[in-house]
Amino acid sequence: MAEAECSRGGVECSVRSVSDRIEMGYREAFRGLLARVKPRRLEFGVELLVGRARERAARDGTPLRRALYDLYVETRGKVEKRVALMAACTLAPAEPAASPRFLCDESLGGLARWLWAAGQAADVARGLRSDALLAEARRLGAELLTSDASLFSRRDVREGRIAAVWVPTGLARLEQLEWVRHEAPFHLADPRCMACGGALQAAPKASVRERIPPRTALWKDEYWTCARCGRLFWEGTHWERIAARLREVKAA
Ligand SMILES: [Zn+2]
Repeated sequence: MAEAECSRGGVECSVRSVSDRIEMGYREAFRGLLARVKPRRLEFGVELLVGRARERAARDGTPLRRALYDLYVETRGKVEKRVALMAACTLAPAEPAASPRFLCDESLGGLARWLWAAGQAADVARGLRSDALLAEARRLGAELLTSDASLFSRRDVREGRIAAVWVPTGLARLEQLEWVRHEAPFHLADPRCMACGGALQAAPKASVRERIPPRTALWKDEYWTCARCGRLFWEGTHWERIAARLREVKAA
């Protein structure tokens, strides 16, 4: 896809900068990953990984961003094992399981819907970029999910005043969800409203009867309404499909 666009003259620069930004993001992600095992030569390790991804992409004829993603996921598995081993050796107390609240940048609205399905409280920062986006994350005390790699050079993010997770572009939504779940672990909780992210409250059937489609009313007795937008929900086939796909992520 990128190659085809490259031949159209004026688009070349923007295409190149997109792949540069992706590589920059992965560099930052590798750096964060490797830092967890406190290596002696961090930058050397980062270069090694990026170089290996390049070799793989050339050898297998896959896009570089796919090779970077695969290598990141592989390396993360190794790092997690190593970290667990280090923790076991030093008998460090397990970190308390926090329940992070997320702020997605505007490009990650689709991811937000899956976060809601997974029961996470998440807002989408519509119309906010750069400084305004960071300010909003800070105001909410939320963990920022963003595909803008350039934000990770900002001081507030670098020094940890704003918690942020870089999410690569070009991943499927469920891959994004899986990515976030690894970078900022959370437990699957009761689903939230898929339209707005509001919490769902059980609603007695009698209280919502006039809103239930007649056929549904015959075979369903449990209903929920969204505390924010008021939408009515019941467990139908759509819901079951979502739950099944979330279980795939859980098992990953
Ligand atoms: Zn809602």
